[in-house]
Amino acid sequence: MLASNPVDWMKYVVVTGGVLSGLGKGITASSIGVLLKSAGLSVTSVKIDPYLNCDAGTMSPFEHGEVYVLDDGGEVDLDLGNYERFLDISLTKDNNITTGKVYQSVIERERRGDYLGKTVQVIPHITNEIQEWIERVANTPSDGTNNTPDACVIELGGTVGDIESAPFIEALRQFQFRVGEENICFVHVSLVPVMGPVGEQKTKPTQHTVKELRGLGIIPDILVCRSENPLDEETRVKLAAFCHVSPDAVVSAHDVSNIYRIPILLEEQGVSDVLSKEIGFDLPKTRPLLDDWIRMAETVDNLEEVVKIAMVGKYTGLSDSYLSVIKALQHSSFEVNRKLQINWIEAENLDEKIKQENYEKYTEAWDALKDSDGILVPGGFGIRGIEGKIRAAEYARVNKIPYLGVCLGLQIATIEFCRNVLGMKDANSTEFDEDTSQPAVVFMPEISKTHMGGTMRLGTKPTPFLVEDCKIKRLYGNQSHVDERHRHRYEVNPELISKIESAGLMYVGKDETGQRCEIMELKDHPYYVGTQYHPEFKSRPGRPSPPFLGLLMASIGQKI
Ligand code: GLN
Repeated sequence: MLASNPVDWMKYVVVTGGVLSGLGKGITASSIGVLLKSAGLSVTSVKIDPYLNCDAGTMSPFEHGEVYVLDDGGEVDLDLGNYERFLDISLTKDNNITTGKVYQSVIERERRGDYLGKTVQVIPHITNEIQEWIERVANTPSDGTNNTPDACVIELGGTVGDIESAPFIEALRQFQFRVGEENICFVHVSLVPVMGPVGEQKTKPTQHTVKELRGLGIIPDILVCRSENPLDEETRVKLAAFCHVSPDAVVSAHDVSNIYRIPILLEEQGVSDVLSKEIGFDLPKTRPLLDDWIRMAETVDNLEEVVKIAMVGKYTGLSDSYLSVIKALQHSSFEVNRKLQINWIEAENLDEKIKQENYEKYTEAWDALKDSDGILVPGGFGIRGIEGKIRAAEYARVNKIPYLGVCLGLQIATIEFCRNVLGMKDANSTEFDEDTSQPAVVFMPEISKTHMGGTMRLGTKPTPFLVEDCKIKRLYGNQSHVDERHRHRYEVNPELISKIESAGLMYVGKDETGQRCEIMELKDHPYYVGTQYHPEFKSRPGRPSPPFLGLLMASIGQKI
């Protein structure tokens, strides 16, 4: 490691979870990363998902939340999005370790004969593979420079005690000796529920999960306790005593007004001090990064005027399915000083068919759409809700309501335009009607029809702008091209482009071959934009994604 680095050796913080899932372990881990970064360390992260899938690409957003896409085309757990946004870094697919990936690699080695006749076992072969993997990615630069990071936050998905996570826990137990105990800190996130008429904070679940963790050979240095209200002093003391954690390392992670408050909440309770003692780094006197977070948290709490965006999707009951899209909308709403209200609309309910079946649902959906200042059709797969989305795109186009279509949303706008402006009544995507006589959106020639995992057009690809001036180019600061992340199998039918463009829907950005449509913008409309890529993945607090910012600006009546 270079002499100028603030630490002499790679520092690791391992975050595990107990009692139940969904405690916000990812946000806690990202917030710890922010504290380390504020101390001048360059921080990267690893997310371990103990499921058997090789990656999240084949998993339904319904079950598992959104599939997050990385620059290198990795389709990963949404927690990697939290890391990228909180720490302003760019990760690789190797930063998401799954059981499937680890076994795949070990089995490949076994087939190559790398184990020299040995019996291949979970211990040591799987556990060694995990440790080597962590070390390798921890040392991979992720902040846009070529510098090796100083610290790595490792989040272990699932709950301690799960059968699936056992090899990872064992690997992390061994890891403390591999890297030196002075370079690693264990943080356990647990739940402190409240029971009874006086609202007593209950410590037993946490006692049990810590006992389980200790039984597996890992002694937590910091206990982060999720609770509704701040931990009572009595609870804190009791947890320290029963869990063998120093009282100043029992941290209350109670509900706060917005997520930007979480790093500050941890800081106020001395987590940076505990970390600096545990893994050995100096805390500078001033840490401007934390001031930025305080400012951000204040801004978010003080927004008053509302902007309403309709989100026309198919997993509208589950906001995790659209996490990055929501984040990108939020980042943009902060920028235009508005409080974001998302009007969730089940696309199916906008469909004429529903009118007969369930008139109430239909009118409710249309009322919500009409009540919105702007309309967003996010990415998606499969036929459900398509006709409703097409109706929403039509409504936005005809009534000059700001519209942003992301990936599927661009394809939807194209189909709508072909049907209702060009008179191609049967226009469709071959994704929804393989035999359509008027294919407006078609399967891309290079994509596999038989293999689902990792075979889409994925990751960051450059999109040159093809026009001198347009709204979306202005929003991107008049750059000659943009680098954004992709995840799709279908594209606008290249044979229809000139016909569509001559009627006013312009494809202002195409891929490097000049063939594939990437960015669309409608003439004579306040904001009617679509991107074949997913701009939401690169949005950051304080640096909102330009297409989303454009939607918000137009939605509050600002000219672009
Ligand atoms: N289903 C469409 C395609 O594969 C859109 C994908 C998306 O929105 N991510 O091209």
